[in-house]
Amino acid sequence: MLFRWFSTRSSSRSFPVADWQAACQRVALLRSLTEEEAERLGQRAWHFLEHKRITLHPTLETTPFDRPAQLVLAGQACLMTLGWSDFEHADAFSNVHEIVVLPDGFTREVEEMDEFGVVHAFTDTRAGETSYQGPVVVAFTDLMQSGDFTGFNVLIHELAHKLDMGNSIDIDGFPPLPSSITPAEWHGIFTQVWNDLQRCIRQGESPPIDDYAASHPGECFAVCCETFFCDPERFADAYPDLYGLLCRYFNQQPLTRIHHA
Ligand SMILES: [Zn+2]
Repeated sequence: MLFRWFSTRSSSRSFPVADWQAACQRVALLRSLTEEEAERLGQRAWHFLEHKRITLHPTLETTPFDRPAQLVLAGQACLMTLGWSDFEHADAFSNVHEIVVLPDGFTREVEEMDEFGVVHAFTDTRAGETSYQGPVVVAFTDLMQSGDFTGFNVLIHELAHKLDMGNSIDIDGFPPLPSSITPAEWHGIFTQVWNDLQRCIRQGESPPIDDYAASHPGECFAVCCETFFCDPERFADAYPDLYGLLCRYFNQQPLTRIHHA
């Protein structure tokens, strides 16, 4: 069956102030920004829509996905790099070409080798996925659940993988670092968190952040980014050193925003 996909790419018209204000009212993450942050993020989100392709699955063609909704999507994507210069932001997302929105969670057949060399095949249900130079794929249902301070955000998760792949084709939890953070410091603090997550799993305890973080160092980085932006109180309580490191990495302090949402 030939699907007719619905793609949007904004024309280079002037910045839509009212649409951006409407977008900011729709989700807590954007509502919580200062006026200055919201203004800078709005320009970046608009530029993002002009330069990246947003593709909706044909079954979503009748779904209201107006310009404020597109700006909500782009705004959350650009929130991660808001503390960086325009050049750093553009460079970090130069491997993001397209965001594909599927109607619902989707499945992939996966094979994984365990520590004893035994290969396990299973069906994995996903809210999103991406790859080096590939599109960022997200499920519409999960996109609709993203944007508040409950810790879950499929866009931030997948775009964290894109940041991670800024220096390698695989995700490894080691994105390009600013000169103020040494690889040894990054590795040391993430290793403490990784070891704590593994300890929780071994002892049958619930980890303080989504246990998917314990599945792979790359997922650890992505889940930590998600929790850092979308549940900073829980994150800073659980892993204060990593919260501090990510504040320096992103040049942002999400804890200051939670009472403004
Ligand atoms: Zn992931």
